[in-house]
Amino acid sequence: MLNQKNTGIVYKSTGSWYLVKHNNDLIQCKIRGKLRTHGFRTTNPVAVGDNVEFVVQKDGVGIILNLIDRKNCIIRQSTNLSKKNHIIAANVNQALLIVSLNSPATPIEFIDRFLVSSEVYQVPAKIVFNKTDIYTEEDNKQLDNLVDTYTEIGYECFKISVAERKNIDQIKNILKDKTSVLIGNSGVGKSSLINLINPGHALKVKEISDKYKTGKHTTTFAEMFDLETGGRIVDTPGIRAFGLGFLENEDVAHNFPEMFNLLQKCKYHNCLHIDEPKCAVKEAFEDGQIAYSRYKSYINIMLEEDEKYRKDMYQ
Ligand code: GDP
Ligand code: ZN
Repeated sequence: MLNQKNTGIVYKSTGSWYLVKHNNDLIQCKIRGKLRTHGFRTTNPVAVGDNVEFVVQKDGVGIILNLIDRKNCIIRQSTNLSKKNHIIAANVNQALLIVSLNSPATPIEFIDRFLVSSEVYQVPAKIVFNKTDIYTEEDNKQLDNLVDTYTEIGYECFKISVAERKNIDQIKNILKDKTSVLIGNSGVGKSSLINLINPGHALKVKEISDKYKTGKHTTTFAEMFDLETGGRIVDTPGIRAFGLGFLENEDVAHNFPEMFNLLQKCKYHNCLHIDEPKCAVKEAFEDGQIAYSRYKSYINIMLEEDEKYRKDMYQ
């Protein structure tokens, strides 16, 4: 395959090196020159899951020449102040948000932020509540409420316990033959779930790290691997916050599906459901048809992300 153009899928990226899978080989690649990045400011021009064209040099190192158009991607705003965005993964069939309501408790706003972003980038999202074995009575009440709320909006929910091996088959089923990205805050049990579903994984990660000296498995970077039962998983580093500063107000308003469905009943076609008169969303919220937690997340995202509005509110 020397000097001949190949296509492959990026399985791992460290920022300067990329592991690209072509047939059954993983090839260590670099990027040459400037890649066309669709005019989008990102910290990483090439992400895990991207399809790329590359050539292999005489020294065995691959050079990525071209990025093939993405079907979709999961993006979040980088934590630094550069306002650049980071692509967590590209070309995925679905995203599984792993949540825990106890030790650690995933903030509800984190769930909603993630869901907005998955709507915007058209990645179907499912919610997996893990650690149900340690939920208190109160946690269980919250669990039932959240499952009702999200199921009604259209997000499939799962209640699992990795520790007790409960409902793991349901997760195996939805992962089969799909490319899925797993997202969650640190400690919710992502690695434990992956190890349970794919026992050979930990060993493979070590082999790859040793071979390519990409460091031990600290999940600082997203990485993809094949499932023994068919399909692929993108494992992501624990995410502390889901910045959405790259979204316009309308993007936020249009990507809470239960609110978007009511927009045509609001007096103003561009209603943001904050303090406008005759707002169908606020009425639905007051009637209890829109969950308190959802509306709260919505307002928080709006206030936090919209600088203009924030100034009006606090000055
Ligand atoms: P990650 O940061 O999301 O990858 O989380 P880990 O898989 O490292 O899990 C964090 C801790 O939670 C570990 O001590 C796991 O053993 C524990 N853990 C994972 N799943 C469960 C579960 O279903 N129940 C309980 N009680 N603990 C779990
Ligand atoms: Zn409204």
